[in-house]
Amino acid sequence: MTASAPNTLTSGGLFQIEEPDRPAHRPRKAGLGIGIDLGTTHSLVAIAPHGATPRVLADDQGRALLPSVVSYVGETPVVGYAALAQQVDHPDRVISSVKRFMGRAPEDIDGPVPYALGERPGDEGRVIRFDVGQGRLVTPVEVSARILEVLRRRAEDALGAPPDGAVITVPAYFDDAQRQATKDAARIAGLEVYRLLAEPTAAALAYGLDRNEQGIFVVFDLGGGTFDVSVLRLDRGVFQVLATAGDTALGGDDLDRALAEHLLAEAGVEAPTPHQRAEALEIARSVKERLSVDTVAAATLRHAGLEDHEVTRETFERVCQPVLRRLKGPARRALADAGIDRESIDGVVLVGGSTRVPAVKHLAERLFGKKPLDDIDPDKVVAWGAAIQADILSGNPRDGVTLLDVVPLSLGVETMGGMVEKIIPRNAPIPIRARQVFTNYSEEQTGMTIHVVQGEREMAADCRSLARFDLQGIPRLPPSMARVEVTFQLDADALLTVTARELMTGVAQTVQVKPTFGLSDEEVERLVLESLDHADEDFAARDRAEARVELDRVITAVRRALAEDGDDEKLLPPDERSNIDTALADAVGAMDDGNLDAAALRRIRERLEAAAEPFARRRMEAALASGMAGRSVGEIEHAVGDEATLDERRGGHHATMEDPVAVTE
Ligand code: ADP
Ligand code: MG
Repeated sequence: MTASAPNTLTSGGLFQIEEPDRPAHRPRKAGLGIGIDLGTTHSLVAIAPHGATPRVLADDQGRALLPSVVSYVGETPVVGYAALAQQVDHPDRVISSVKRFMGRAPEDIDGPVPYALGERPGDEGRVIRFDVGQGRLVTPVEVSARILEVLRRRAEDALGAPPDGAVITVPAYFDDAQRQATKDAARIAGLEVYRLLAEPTAAALAYGLDRNEQGIFVVFDLGGGTFDVSVLRLDRGVFQVLATAGDTALGGDDLDRALAEHLLAEAGVEAPTPHQRAEALEIARSVKERLSVDTVAAATLRHAGLEDHEVTRETFERVCQPVLRRLKGPARRALADAGIDRESIDGVVLVGGSTRVPAVKHLAERLFGKKPLDDIDPDKVVAWGAAIQADILSGNPRDGVTLLDVVPLSLGVETMGGMVEKIIPRNAPIPIRARQVFTNYSEEQTGMTIHVVQGEREMAADCRSLARFDLQGIPRLPPSMARVEVTFQLDADALLTVTARELMTGVAQTVQVKPTFGLSDEEVERLVLESLDHADEDFAARDRAEARVELDRVITAVRRALAEDGDDEKLLPPDERSNIDTALADAVGAMDDGNLDAAALRRIRERLEAAAEPFARRRMEAALASGMAGRSVGEIEHAVGDEATLDERRGGHHATMEDPVAVTE
């Protein structure tokens, strides 16, 4: 083959010149993954090392729940219960429910923001910054980072080592900006995010529902200030969120408010002061929580002058009726949106502290016609699921538990000679990013075709073709001088983005593909088995293809050297020339003969190299002597016909990019 340039879609391949950047995720540390439920009201961290039952980690006072509250009253921020204690006196410097502001612009917030906001030049109204006094402005991401930091340290104490990575849960309806903000917060807190996981999916994992073959599950999550109903479909171990509905302003806080009003009325207080109101809310909350276990509880409101007032569960349920009624609409809507009726529900999972309220539990049972699963603490179940997933992603695959997010089949590009260079290997955890750099094969090359393939086989023709695209505008450079970086980015939703970029000019091309689309588990299984069956055969094919590529390069280099200096008898004595001509003719013949195996092709290549070696050495010396010393090694190599770089390559990788237009054999 000669590298001709009939048009810009031309020519030759790109040689790989750097080792694959494969530790795109560094090696993980099995057992050091942590699961975090970053809640609106409370946050938790749990671990499940090496397949253990998940354990939620408590603070030094034995408290597992960390109030998602950060106080900026003092110089250094304070998180959790201590921050909560400062809220009544400094309502504008103690930030709670920051999750509501994540990934949001001021204009996205419905209703008044209960904090003073500030701006920095350049914000242009797009960034929320809480003004927490003393000229300090903090973003929701920074506030969340403070919470995550406390959880990270808690995990570090329990593990005796820094966590390797975290699975952080987010509501199923979180959009890209909200997810990105959550990831940013984790980074600030010094946590690597293995992945974000939908809260309802985490709850389902905690109950091991993924061990079923398939099913429809409803996750009913009533927290402090948010209500979410999700309908999940499990199909062959993968959960899909069919529908979510809810109310972002409905939760246990509303029960507290209803009960607090009742208590203030019992005390005869008509216009409560802020302190009376704050106290009433606090007491209402603890009475409410007690009534989840007992049928009667006593309330004392010192500021309002109410002493040992008895509240029965019945009274509580009566005053809460208006709040409870609001749960029905979203529950029905979620089923309707998912297109399923009550009869097809296989299970209901209760999540969120407020589902401990017996009236809420009964309501869920009535709405879905099933006794809900509630044997895992509803305020811990999401963290449990996150911990299980984190343990798996840290490198502890479990029997019977589906890996939600590994690459089912290797992803790669077709290289010179029809071989496959795998860029993301099978079973790599996603999200993942991997990169390889290729170089040009000849100076005539101004474009290349990236053929993205999926599969375990060595030859591209035996793999599944996912996409093919061209990168144009590669500058004309001597062989090995262009640098084309090919990046594979597989995000958590299994969306693959392939980018090819020429590093000198920056020209780039990108495509997106959904790589697993259309592949069932059986197909994946079959393709993997097939690759094992064909392993020997594939190896031989690859070996032969590599040998052909190597031989072709030597032919090209020798031809160019002959064209430039073949008539210079000082550089090439005539008897040497005829040696080279014979070896060259053999080599060209070998390329045309489709039957030669790798070993034969290599022998022929070595003979040609040996014949041309003295000529190449003389050209190199002449080039150096004639003042090329100031030029780069690459240019000199080009000028002398490439033999030096060939030697370097012999031991290393020989992957090349194929351009199907130009490879003529
Ligand atoms: P979030 O997901 O919004 O962070 P949680 O799931 O932690 O919220 O739920 C917090 C809510 O659960 C609070 O309103 C709290 O009062 C309520 N809660 C916690 N325990 C109980 C209980 N035993 N009985 C009733 N409500 C409870
Ligand atoms: Mg929650």
